[in-house]
Amino acid sequence: MKISIVGTGYVGLVTGTCFSDTGVNVTCVDIDEEKISKLKKGIIPIYEPGLENMIKNNVEKGRLHFTTSLKESLDQAEVIFIAVGTPPGEDGSADLSHVLNVAHEIGKHLDHTMVVVTKSTVPIGTAEKVRKAIREELEKRGVDITFYVASNPEFLKEGNAVEDFLKPDRIVVGTDSEEAEKVIRRLYKPFLLNNHPILFMDIPSAELTKYAANAMLATKISFMNDIANLCELVGADVNMVRKGIGSDSRIGNKFIYPGIGYGGSCFPKDVKAIIRTAKSYNYHLRLLQAVEDINEDQKRILVTKVKKYFNDDVKGKTFAIWGLSFKPHTDDMREAPSKVIINELMQAGAKVKAYDPVAMNEAKKEFGNTIQYGQDPYDVLIDADGLLLLTEWPEFRIPNYKVMAKLMNHKVVFDGRNIYDAAEMEEKGFDYFGIGRSLNK
Ligand code: NAD
Repeated sequence: MKISIVGTGYVGLVTGTCFSDTGVNVTCVDIDEEKISKLKKGIIPIYEPGLENMIKNNVEKGRLHFTTSLKESLDQAEVIFIAVGTPPGEDGSADLSHVLNVAHEIGKHLDHTMVVVTKSTVPIGTAEKVRKAIREELEKRGVDITFYVASNPEFLKEGNAVEDFLKPDRIVVGTDSEEAEKVIRRLYKPFLLNNHPILFMDIPSAELTKYAANAMLATKISFMNDIANLCELVGADVNMVRKGIGSDSRIGNKFIYPGIGYGGSCFPKDVKAIIRTAKSYNYHLRLLQAVEDINEDQKRILVTKVKKYFNDDVKGKTFAIWGLSFKPHTDDMREAPSKVIINELMQAGAKVKAYDPVAMNEAKKEFGNTIQYGQDPYDVLIDADGLLLLTEWPEFRIPNYKVMAKLMNHKVVFDGRNIYDAAEMEEKGFDYFGIGRSLNK
């Protein structure tokens, strides 16, 4: 079987690589020439655990190819996946220009029957737009070639993407043709072993499922952040409350950790986009608007604590930052709360020294030399007036408190992810501030 994957980002590259690992012949296409030339040389443009070896292995076996030519990738392909970005447009709706450019490109070059699958996160009605764009191009060419469209939203998590793709909680496919269903079922068969389910449904339901899933997850986060803020006011500890509610099987204990707000390339844009979709049907998604508002405030909560601690005078002070990526195990800094926090500190006249195990190159694109970067976590603590923990990378979990105390100018820790034990921190002589904890002053 031969397939094409258009868009070689987090989703496209992982999808293509994992399919090639099952023996399928995969061509990954991207318009970014630098990305493709790096991939051809074996340089992987993103950090994703397990991906590099898998790419190397499948390239060596001759099953995984990279090109900038969509036309070339169509040769004998049975399926083409569209996995390009869908960034937020100015009004919050998903920008479909990349997806539709690809659809037009497919229409220009299609010369045999094919299933066109949208894997990007796209609003309801996009599969129809893809169908229309391809038809338009075929009509222009005066040819009649059979093709099918389908929607197959992706649920992988950055930082665990390969594992998620190989062992999916579920695969969702929206289709209106038996032919497409048959081909997609065959392609995904190796991933269905051990009872991983594949759910076929109508196209609008599949398109909405992805947004509803991300909106639900974002809701859990904003709900816990709201409860954490209340905990601080009433003298409760959100860690206790979390355990207390999480042991109710109807609630469950996953994804109910408070922090400094959600970020990344998906939740913020997908919450905005579903609100926008509802608006276009004259429906106001009140709950999700609140989810978004809470999140915006939560990204600033740590800086508020810092300013309060220093009596609103942080000018000239130096703050160490541990963690820049929006979550551990990824170098992705899109919509990362760290960006808001660093900008707010700098606006208040503070200096920032940051360390992240893998995201520093990304941070340099954002901040250049306006902040300093450390070689390791302790490097940035030298003469720091405070430490802000922003990403819960494993290497920050059990730090050497003695070394920290010696290096820091001022022993205060603002823990945006609640990874430290408040009592232990105080015992070691640090002033400690977490999120929603009774020990906060
Ligand atoms: P990305 O920005 O990492 O990659 C997108 C790639 O598409 C880029 O390399 C870009 O150069 C390429 N591209 C753009 N236009 C193109 C064109 N006309 N032809 C060929 N290539 C083109 O994006 P991503 O994070 O992989 O996300 C892709 C889609 O998947 C988005 O809709 C996103 O919402 C969705 N998604 C992302 C994740 C995630 O964790 N990143 C998870 C699930 C779903």
